[in-house]
Amino acid sequence: MFDETNVTRLSIPNWEAVFRVELVPGVVSIVAIHDTTRGVALGGCRISQYENEAEALTDVLRLSRGMTFKNAIADLPLGGGKSVIICNPRVEGEERLRILTEFGKFIAWVNREKDDYITAEDMNTTVADMIHVKQYARNICGISVDPSPYTAWGVFASIEFAVDYFAMDLFEGNRTLEGKRVLIQGLGKVGKKLLEYLTNAGAQVLVSDINTAALEAAKKEYPQTIIVPADGIMDEVVDVFAPCARGEVVTKKNLDNVNFKILCGAANNQLQNTQTGNELQKKGVIYCPDYIANMGGVCSIQYMELEGSSEEDAMKKIQLTVRKMLGLTFQAAFKNNFSFSESVDHVVKKIVWGKKDGNLDLNNESLFPLTSHSEPPVID
Ligand code: NAD
Repeated sequence: MFDETNVTRLSIPNWEAVFRVELVPGVVSIVAIHDTTRGVALGGCRISQYENEAEALTDVLRLSRGMTFKNAIADLPLGGGKSVIICNPRVEGEERLRILTEFGKFIAWVNREKDDYITAEDMNTTVADMIHVKQYARNICGISVDPSPYTAWGVFASIEFAVDYFAMDLFEGNRTLEGKRVLIQGLGKVGKKLLEYLTNAGAQVLVSDINTAALEAAKKEYPQTIIVPADGIMDEVVDVFAPCARGEVVTKKNLDNVNFKILCGAANNQLQNTQTGNELQKKGVIYCPDYIANMGGVCSIQYMELEGSSEEDAMKKIQLTVRKMLGLTFQAAFKNNFSFSESVDHVVKKIVWGKKDGNLDLNNESLFPLTSHSEPPVID
């Protein structure tokens, strides 16, 4: 039996619901439901160790808000949420199953009155984990569809669109990928599939990975691929840089060494911060916002797993949505003189919350500036 008296509801301004429970002695889980304006909140569950619980809370808040934005820009009828289990990701065997069983019961409890939150695998959780969790809660997905190839498809569609859109300014009117130099950082589940799409489109692909086996395998399959040392990323002059390994690839420190015209990849949080995005734009570099470029994965879950679409239809829809949302983002940036990284947030806020109505005599933001601030606090 799940003991609901152990659950604490945390009061976090701007989040619809945040629940905390100790699943088994010493292992805490937090579910954050940021916003369900557009539908049930979808966002994966990660297992991770943190310095302290406050850090885990900040992480789950930040990620759940990110999912509201990502699901909205993907034009999905979904809100944003996320969950974390605070423990050693390498926990195995009976202990892991015990934690996942209790987590499943927790998710069932969160959805006890109505479907508010759907979870899936994420960092350090696997399909096998979710199959186990699904025995205890119905709102589990990411089981029958592997999202990674569709994430790669969305990144490819984004690169194609950006090259085409900015062809006049960047490529003397040449709109195709034929002969364009594209550098992929990270040949994992997404990067490897992206390599296939780009090679087939005639691009000259450069790859970099810290895993030499991944590089060797890529070279064997696509002999024309050029290998770049992991620490030599910024030395290469390329048309497109596609980060598919980790975040914060463009920072204040390396901004001056940027050697690409378009930044477009799968990794989350590619820019250090908004200021970095603005500085990048001042250099005339196009940034395809990460959460548009990598929307293919979450779309594949909605289209194929939740709606039962065919793969062919899903891929068409991903391509169309990526093109639509990048188009809106670029258009809003030109109209309002935003950088592309600022523009996408502006577009999402309009999609999710629309115009701000209410009593014009009141300005809650200035009355309660800290409470109304919609981002989680940063813990140094
Ligand atoms: P993955 O773990 O399968 O692959 C990552 C690859 O990057 C590995 O081959 C690793 O060796 C390599 N790598 C790590 N550090 C590196 C470095 N410093 N330089 C070069 N290579 C390095 O991950 P993935 O599923 O392919 O995802 C790639 C990125 O896209 C991640 O940041 C992930 O969060 C993000 N993302 C993935 C999906 C998805 O559907 N898989 C969806 C959205 C976002």
